[in-house]
Amino acid sequence: MSQTTAEHSRPAGLDERAIGIQRSAREFVEGVLIPLEEEAERLHGRLPEETVQRVKSEASAAGLTGGLHSSKYGGQEWSTVEWFLVEEQLGRSTNAISWHIPNAYNVWEHASPELAERWLAPALRGEIRDAYAVTEKDAGSDPSRISTTAVRSEGGFVINGEKWFVTSGDIASVLIVMANLIEDGESKPTLFVVDKSLAGIETVADPAFTHSYPDGHPTIAFRNVEVGPGDLIGGIGGGDDLQRGWFSEERLGIAARGIGSMWRLLDETVAWAIEREQGGSRILDYQGVSFPLADSAADAAAGRLLTIDIAEMIDKGSDAKLAHHKASMAKLFVSEAAWRCADRCVQVFGGRGYMRSNVAERFLRELRVDRIWEGTSEIQRLIISRGLERRGVEKMLH
Ligand SMILES: Cc1cc2nc3c(=O)[nH]c(=O)nc-3n(C[C@H](O)[C@H](O)[C@H](O)COP(=O)(O)OP(=O)(O)OC[C@H]3O[C@@H](n4cnc5c(N)ncnc54)[C@H](O)[C@@H]3O)c2cc1C
Repeated sequence: MSQTTAEHSRPAGLDERAIGIQRSAREFVEGVLIPLEEEAERLHGRLPEETVQRVKSEASAAGLTGGLHSSKYGGQEWSTVEWFLVEEQLGRSTNAISWHIPNAYNVWEHASPELAERWLAPALRGEIRDAYAVTEKDAGSDPSRISTTAVRSEGGFVINGEKWFVTSGDIASVLIVMANLIEDGESKPTLFVVDKSLAGIETVADPAFTHSYPDGHPTIAFRNVEVGPGDLIGGIGGGDDLQRGWFSEERLGIAARGIGSMWRLLDETVAWAIEREQGGSRILDYQGVSFPLADSAADAAAGRLLTIDIAEMIDKGSDAKLAHHKASMAKLFVSEAAWRCADRCVQVFGGRGYMRSNVAERFLRELRVDRIWEGTSEIQRLIISRGLERRGVEKMLH
């Protein structure tokens, strides 16, 4: 595999701290995650507990836990660019083994100190996991259609509803649940913090999905689940704003990891195409093989610049709404490009590309969902179009 050095790494002007973080992440991915991929695939994503514990402690030793979170709760307080550099490295490995790195969703930064101590700190120590539940049977691309409700009770709030596709909902100890608080004849979207062990919570389905990942995406029902008066994040009615912040980060993360995936795919596929001979020459010498790889290299380099540019913009504290619109551009461009890249690489590997032991085969299945979750490609196009209208063409492009 190729080596990154400070001299040719981008963005230009990375300081020693950022280069050190990038190097740690790279060593962790190459030394810990990549060697586990085939075992993870054979075990349908579920590595043995002792291996999971080793991944967690190696991640902790490498300083990769809780990247963006406050050091008060065990995070690293990375800048967005530093976080990009790590996510890019994590994207180079398959099977989402990186999910075992202790971390938590970004909305916890808006939680009360009591909630953060109770849930965020143990999550960043790797003792528990959180999950984020917004989607419902009739509310996917259009989350305003959610029908999960909360009403006030003597002890706090009572929640009723059903959430679909709750990533890590099978192993999480705490669920961040979007529900409409019904009050004064109004419906106020609010994020509730729900202890998964509370009475009334039931996993009603745990379907299999295309990828072989560590955690499931179950359907979870909430029947008269009572939470305390302080068990919410961002205040009553604050759910939609927090959601935007969550989406911006998740979408940028998908772009960062997608760029890493293309890097790994091209690394392995170019090496194969140089070595493989058919019809009397190296297959890389056939333009039918090399041109699709060249197109993907151009996609990867362009997507990387776009994503880094948005990360730098966020670090400079620029307009959050503009960043939200631009994060959609990065997510759309990279997720579509990474999917094309995986498909091309499978083709270049020929029959070997259809084997589960092949990195391109695994990426082909794994990258497909990046065009669906955190908003489908069609929804990203809607957000970008609105950005063109509301923020203006120049701001969206520059
Ligand atoms: C593996 C996995 C994990 C997930 N994890 C989570 C999670 O942790 N938490 C969570 O809350 N959700 C999660 N999701 C849900 C995910 O965000 C939704 O699946 C996604 O937003 C799409 O919603 P939908 O599946 O209901 O599709 P729909 O909204 O029904 O869309 C179906 C099709 O219609 C298109 N479409 C819909 N509206 C429009 C429109 N206005 N214009 C053009 N086309 C449109 C869509 O692009 C899509 O092609 C997960 C999903 C998957 C597959």
